[in-house]
Amino acid sequence: MHETRCIICGKRKPGLEIDTSTFMFKSFKKLVYTKRKLLRQETKKRDYTLVVCKECFPTYYKLYRSYRNRKIFYIAILILGLFVAVLSGSLAALLYLIIIAALLFILLLLSFIPKLKVKINHINLKEK
Ligand SMILES: [Zn+2]
Repeated sequence: MHETRCIICGKRKPGLEIDTSTFMFKSFKKLVYTKRKLLRQETKKRDYTLVVCKECFPTYYKLYRSYRNRKIFYIAILILGLFVAVLSGSLAALLYLIIIAALLFILLLLSFIPKLKVKINHINLKEK
């Protein structure tokens, strides 16, 4: 059977599969995957299916929510920044914005929590 590994506790347990096809996950895997304690174990073996086990789901959900909120916040900053830059018509402002966007992207990547393949709304949180 294909082995699964929980991204929170690192144990070989069955669970909800995470989505590894997103742009964020691919960037994360390239840049920080091996440095991250959470996923450090067995990184040489790439054939693991990364999951979130039932016991870790509440922890995962908390982490994921704060990550998602941060992402929304950063995007809001960038949209606001873009608005200001366009209004000012300054090329320097636009360049600064690109630098800020890159920094925020790195920050986001460092705290990256992958999403699940299934929609969280479809999971009964009270389920045993
Ligand atoms: Zn776990």
